[in-house]
Amino acid sequence: MAYDQTATQLKPTVPDLAASLVARLDAELRDAHPLTILRKAYETFSDKLALVSSFGAESAVLLHLAAQVSKDIPVLFLDTGMLFGQTLDYRKGLAATLGLTQVRDLRPAFADLAVTDPKSDLWRTDTDACCHIRKVLPLDRALGEFDGWITGRKRFHGGDRLRLAVVEASDGKIKFNPLANWGKAELDAYVAEHDLPAHPLVSQGFPSVGCWPCTKPVDDPNADVRAGRWAGQDKTECGIHVARAPGAAPNVGEGI
Ligand code: SF4
Repeated sequence: MAYDQTATQLKPTVPDLAASLVARLDAELRDAHPLTILRKAYETFSDKLALVSSFGAESAVLLHLAAQVSKDIPVLFLDTGMLFGQTLDYRKGLAATLGLTQVRDLRPAFADLAVTDPKSDLWRTDTDACCHIRKVLPLDRALGEFDGWITGRKRFHGGDRLRLAVVEASDGKIKFNPLANWGKAELDAYVAEHDLPAHPLVSQGFPSVGCWPCTKPVDDPNADVRAGRWAGQDKTECGIHVARAPGAAPNVGEGI
């Protein structure tokens, strides 16, 4: 079996083992093509590997690449209950177009909503708490069965992502960022080459698409791609890429 049995031991109690595997994989993959990174991730973790996608503005590239490795890879989609209808339509259409068989819609727990956000307006007063129950907790529950996961983050998105590694440790799991090295030019060229369908909101001025209450169109062509996310707030990340262990450094792009 291709799956590396050492990966099953990737728990916080054996950080040295995880760190050594991360260091080895990152040294091998830091300058590799995204498809090579995805193949190595799948070869290493097999059915213990998931891909997390927002089915947002740039998601088609990573999903198209992943579908070349396996159409059966579990794709975790955070359906927060606050997404644009266009995103839900795009998720269905793109999954069908690419032949992805295991897209899983992760929804907030009813109990969390009932206790913390019964009127669905928590985003007005506490976006961190809202993201926690609608994104962080559902993803943590879903990731429990996996040892490795894939994200679509890129360095050119700026902020803490400028330091993003291709392979990084994340709360006892290993996280792959196959598109870390790609810029907008590479993404646009890949979309054109493969004639990938665009998210419908891109043509309406949304360079990045999240939940409707927290995403605005961006007029300035020189602004960061994520400038329309939580605009006017200090917040730049939803929290799914922040290390959970008490006192741990944020896992948003630290070096290995
Ligand atoms: S992005 Fe906004 S609406 Fe979506 S979960 Fe976070 S705070 Fe809530």
